[in-house]
Amino acid sequence: MAKQRDITKLRNIGVVAHIDAGKTTVTERVLYYTGREHRMGDVDDGSTVTDYLPAERARGITITSAAVTCPWKGYEINIVDTPGHVDFTAEVERCLRVLDGAVIVFCGCSGVEAQSETVWRQADRYDIPRIAFINKLDRMGADFDRVVEEMRTKLGASPLPLHMPVGLEDDHRGLIDLIGMKQLTFPAEELGARVEISDVPPQMLEEAEARREILVEAVAGEVDAVAEKYLANEEITPEEIIAGVREMTLANTVTPVLCGSALNHIGVQPLLDAIRDLLPSPRDVHVTRGFKPGSKENDPEAEEVRKNYPDQPMSAYAFKIIADRYGDLTFVRVYSGTLSKKGRIENTRQDRKEKVRGIFRMYADSREQIDEAYAGDIVALQGLKFTVTGDTLSDPEHPIVYEQIPFPDTVISMAVEPKTAADEEKLVDTLGILSKEDPTFNYRFDSETGQHLMSGMGELHLQVLVDRMLADFVLPVSVGSPRVSYRETIAGEAEVEGRFVQQTGGHGQFAVLKLRVEHFPNSEPDHVVFEEALRGVAFPKEYLQAVEQGVRDAASGGHIAGYPLINIKVTLTDAKTHEVDSSGYAFSGAASRGLHEACEAAGVQILEPIMRLEVVTPDEFFGSVVKDLAARRAEVTGQSLRGHLRVIDAKAPLAKMFGYSTDLRSMSTGRATYTMEPAEYREIPKQQYSQIFGL
Ligand code: GDP
Repeated sequence: MAKQRDITKLRNIGVVAHIDAGKTTVTERVLYYTGREHRMGDVDDGSTVTDYLPAERARGITITSAAVTCPWKGYEINIVDTPGHVDFTAEVERCLRVLDGAVIVFCGCSGVEAQSETVWRQADRYDIPRIAFINKLDRMGADFDRVVEEMRTKLGASPLPLHMPVGLEDDHRGLIDLIGMKQLTFPAEELGARVEISDVPPQMLEEAEARREILVEAVAGEVDAVAEKYLANEEITPEEIIAGVREMTLANTVTPVLCGSALNHIGVQPLLDAIRDLLPSPRDVHVTRGFKPGSKENDPEAEEVRKNYPDQPMSAYAFKIIADRYGDLTFVRVYSGTLSKKGRIENTRQDRKEKVRGIFRMYADSREQIDEAYAGDIVALQGLKFTVTGDTLSDPEHPIVYEQIPFPDTVISMAVEPKTAADEEKLVDTLGILSKEDPTFNYRFDSETGQHLMSGMGELHLQVLVDRMLADFVLPVSVGSPRVSYRETIAGEAEVEGRFVQQTGGHGQFAVLKLRVEHFPNSEPDHVVFEEALRGVAFPKEYLQAVEQGVRDAASGGHIAGYPLINIKVTLTDAKTHEVDSSGYAFSGAASRGLHEACEAAGVQILEPIMRLEVVTPDEFFGSVVKDLAARRAEVTGQSLRGHLRVIDAKAPLAKMFGYSTDLRSMSTGRATYTMEPAEYREIPKQQYSQIFGL
């Protein structure tokens, strides 16, 4: 048997941050110092390795997650690259599930921004232990203590600084490690490859000691072993402090704070040491954090928790699919047991056998083929045919299904066509690949217009995908203007009969049923709840499935304007069958007719997506930003100050937000920023139907 891995020496982490805080640069430096990347990549020259898709390079933002393994001092750190833009929050959440710990990067100047708050709250939701890295301390206006304070006030965190910066702005040279009480500097001519360790300079000693005292006191306040020594006035060793901080970090009662400047190679090796010393190994965390464990039938009564030991039955969770020139790569986290190429594997959600042809440990620019992966590992699999993001793979003898991740609805769509008719087939293939990789993106063929429609989470989301078509798939396309994906819902409640009866000689059709349809907000995948409430009627399961399918198909096509019906509950209350003439086909038809009749009877409302947005602007542009928001039918829900900046929280109809990034930029000479994500659906006043939908 192959040598077992010591999973206590494994760290599965993510680097998460507000866009532009320096996440990519930090990751680059980590790859460089962990020896896998020979040339230092810089975001600005477009040569970074985790952002390996050309479209991302061009934009300089990280979109698609890739998992990268970095060896560090006998440990192995798997970095799952999480996307930074808010259009992609669903993808961030999916990645967070497979992490054991996270590094949150803050910008030393702009501090805690709207999106830092978003990622922080997501990490809270999954209870992920984290350390903070305050970056860019070389920049004008950088202020370590202010960012620490903002973590406290804006995030409600308990930051615990382990470092103190040496010099700020142009003068930023290194840091003082408050645990070891040493100064660390990073000679620029060696790109920081060598860390110079020296005594704390005398002029900084007093301040460093005061800061160390705060640190030690905080640890003594929570960790008994340290408290005893502290009270007895005995010396506490650096190892004891580290063990104490680790305990607190794993319990998520504090967030250790480190500092540096990734661009100038300051503070990266200490960050790696902190990942090793303070963040959990897979053994330290609950095996299925963030999941409801389930049985094969996803039956909550039969919940089962797998221990993450290699000798348990195998289970693994697919969190990312990337189309690769050698076939799709499915990134999985192995939760229990041993995954091997020889072993039998089942996709438990779909009840299908899968065959693994290759298991790879992925480095940023290379990959290593391995025979087995163990509980705790994050690896890429080749050869899977059916598995999609969110599926569970397991040992067929011991099936288990981990909870699926709900994806938000797409709210925007755009027509896309190839520039040359010969590329039609390639377009369909490409759309297929892209939607497989990214479950927040989908597409369909609109037979009325003869065009392909792509749908996603926002303008930028679709634009990035269009860029990828050109850059990665060499597929020139032209696109229409983005359009809002409206929804319909039933305005009240109705109980109706649905009939599909044709009995004019020969083999006929017979299906008669009663449906109650009501407005019912819910979070089912297509927002349609279907229930059967038949009393004393013998109704074959096959017909019941046909009724449900008929309802769902009809709902997806809408009733008055062709937009999917959502937030409805459909109950089958009665059914009549005919011995010879009834069929699934007939019942599906009757269900569809019934649904439309109910909509006709109760009336239908059209809903529009409302976006939640946060605009951060210097004071001088505040007036014009607010005025412009009012013109977009935005409702301002809150205002606050963030340093010298004004923060405006608002909700606005997506329809009015097209082109906002360009407009905001020109309104504020590029100084205001915003984030936006889908929030809810809201009814459109009926008077506007004719203008918007021509009804
Ligand atoms: P991301 O969007 O969070 O991935 O951020 P990037 O790593 O792409 O960095 C955004 C910009 O900030 C780039 O122009 C970087 O060169 C720059 N940057 C990153 N780290 C630092 C730093 O420590 N100091 C300074 N001055 N700039 C930095």
